[in-house]
Amino acid sequence: NKQVVIKNYVSGFPKESDMEIITGSIKLKVESGSKAILVKNLYLSCDPYMRLLMRPQGWEEYSLLKSSQGLFKIEHTDVPLSYYTGILGMPGMTAYAGFYEVCSPKKGEYVFVSAASGAVGQLVGQFAKLFGCYVVGSAGSKEKVDLLKNKFGFDEAFNYKEEPDMNEALKRYFPQGIDIYFENVGGKMLDAVILNMRIHGRIAVCGMISQYNLDQPEGVHNLMSIVYKRVRMEGFAVFDYYPQYGKFLDLVLPNIREGKITYVEDIAEGLENGPAALIGLFSGRNVGKQVVVVARD
Ligand code: NDP
Repeated sequence: NKQVVIKNYVSGFPKESDMEIITGSIKLKVESGSKAILVKNLYLSCDPYMRLLMRPQGWEEYSLLKSSQGLFKIEHTDVPLSYYTGILGMPGMTAYAGFYEVCSPKKGEYVFVSAASGAVGQLVGQFAKLFGCYVVGSAGSKEKVDLLKNKFGFDEAFNYKEEPDMNEALKRYFPQGIDIYFENVGGKMLDAVILNMRIHGRIAVCGMISQYNLDQPEGVHNLMSIVYKRVRMEGFAVFDYYPQYGKFLDLVLPNIREGKITYVEDIAEGLENGPAALIGLFSGRNVGKQVVVVARD
């Protein structure tokens, strides 16, 4: 059984050498009468939150589970199975809960999404477009900006790495201001967005990937604008919304089948490429949802 294991507790920016691939036999010592389950893993999800865990992760070819708790049977197999790590899995639910529940959107509102071409962001933008909002996304390369505009249907998109002054950039894309900000990155982007929010705007704080590898998180300086503009800023955790998974599938599956929602994956072949794929999230190497193929279905 091949596994990716953490060699050391990670401090600062994680490196591929913090992980190693080992091969061993799986311990099948199961007490009689127990409900243990042996799982053959096909696809692994690469998610930024894994940096915050960086302890043994179950990145392996087979997993022995003590019970079936937390497992569910995949009913709809007419879509790629790997989608259950992305659009039909945790990142999809995150986009759904964050946009529909936390942002309280209204038709015609102005929406800004950061890390917009990623696993969560690409869906937030498409949900917002389907809902009738005006949507702008930021991402870290020309290739990603093109995807946002030409594949996901964002109204506008820009490469934040080429903008010397983020406040100026946001004023250019939102001369009237921002009603909804879907926050994925934090730091300087958040500071600039706060200055450009409209009165009674909403900020859904999904994540702050720019802060995860810093020993000392950056400060946010423009918080008083939240008061002046009466902005609601709310963090959320996707697992609170898992009871709505059925409702979420009812919305998303028909849209995938009818081609109204599209999803881009970045596929790394083979468990041995898992460490590089995970590290790549923090330099923006992934284009779309990062998946690791362990075995084909
Ligand atoms: P992505 O697929 O978007 O991958 C991460 C992307 O973040 C990179 O491709 C890169 O894109 C961007 N990025 C990396 N470092 C920086 C940086 N320093 N500054 C700005 N952008 C950076 O990841 P996900 O869609 O899976 O996750 C998006 C966010 O959502 C994360 O913050 C994650 O932690 C959060 N999240 C929160 C959940 C919750 O329950 N609250 C659940 C799931 C995810 P680029 O090239 O554009 O820079």
